Amino acid sequence: MTRRDEILDFLGHYDGPEVRIMEVCGTHTAQIVRTGIPSLLSPKIHLISGPGCPVCVTVTDYIDRLVELSLAPGSTVYAFGDLLRVRGSRYSLSEAKSLGGQVRMVYAPADLLMYAEREPDVCHIFAAVGFETTVPVYADLIQEAKRRGLANVKLLTSLKTMPGIVRWLCRENEKAAPDKKVTGFLAPGHVCAAAGYRDYEPIAEAFQLPFIVAGFSADLLLAAIYGLVREQGRGVVRNFYPQAVTRDGNPAVRAAVQEMFSPCDAAWRGFGTVPGTGLCLRPAFASFDAGSEGLTRDHVAGGCRCADVLMGRISSRECPLFGKICTPENPQGACMVSQEGSCFNHFQEGVPY
Ligand code: SF4
Repeated sequence: MTRRDEILDFLGHYDGPEVRIMEVCGTHTAQIVRTGIPSLLSPKIHLISGPGCPVCVTVTDYIDRLVELSLAPGSTVYAFGDLLRVRGSRYSLSEAKSLGGQVRMVYAPADLLMYAEREPDVCHIFAAVGFETTVPVYADLIQEAKRRGLANVKLLTSLKTMPGIVRWLCRENEKAAPDKKVTGFLAPGHVCAAAGYRDYEPIAEAFQLPFIVAGFSADLLLAAIYGLVREQGRGVVRNFYPQAVTRDGNPAVRAAVQEMFSPCDAAWRGFGTVPGTGLCLRPAFASFDAGSEGLTRDHVAGGCRCADVLMGRISSRECPLFGKICTPENPQGACMVSQEGSCFNHFQEGVPY
């Protein structure tokens, strides 16, 4: 029997205490569903999606501000594709565009620089949403704008960091009913590649929960799930993705981020404002900020249970609107819009989760 077969056999026949494993990375969510991993697990092993999709955790106040900026004379808003279809309290950026708003979809923030040089009288604003993985890209954009003397480049930031919100989730987890408690975390491979996994060690110890840094292939994910089942009840952090992740992450990336951004409070969809879980531009770079402060309100469409999905309280399929009123063509919440969203992935693949 190969090691892979042993792992599959163990996970398929596991009959110990119920295990509830949360992933906090949108790419893990998508990969778990695409590879059909839940169908390989014993009914005693449950996989739960957490707040790992950056678009899904963005509050409507932030979208409203982007819409407002896109409709203001003399400004253009740039965003990645997923964000365009997420509704604020009234409109999405796509709808704002059809109302005459200036909105451009880009594949990389650097694309904005070409427009900023070509249209010097326009303020070019990038919708800077994301976790530790994408923050360095925004840092590069601002450094390059500064180098080229482009004062018409700005960010509207809604940047979040993972360890703080994971600690918050662990506190909430202590209040959860026994059959809803998370027993371990798949630590986010991409985030840890940039920022390392050292910050999860005190959390694991404080809450006596295992964390395993996981890669993205089916085999790497299965190995990490196997590890979390074996390590349940232990406050440990293990790195099962050493090909890309070290304890301290990428020092150059960390330094670039720290130079430009400092920790701040962040508003999370469904969770409210959680102290110290965001990143904001430092005062020295305030001229590149398009007015990111104070965007905290969240208007949720009637019946949408995104908050419960992001907290791991319910699966996407338990939302009464899932697949009926809410589909990728007619999304009621951000979790059905983003390709990293739990609802989107479960709708696409039809895998019970
Ligand atoms: Fe919200 Fe739609 Fe997901 Fe329900 S299925 S939680 S309405 S995004």
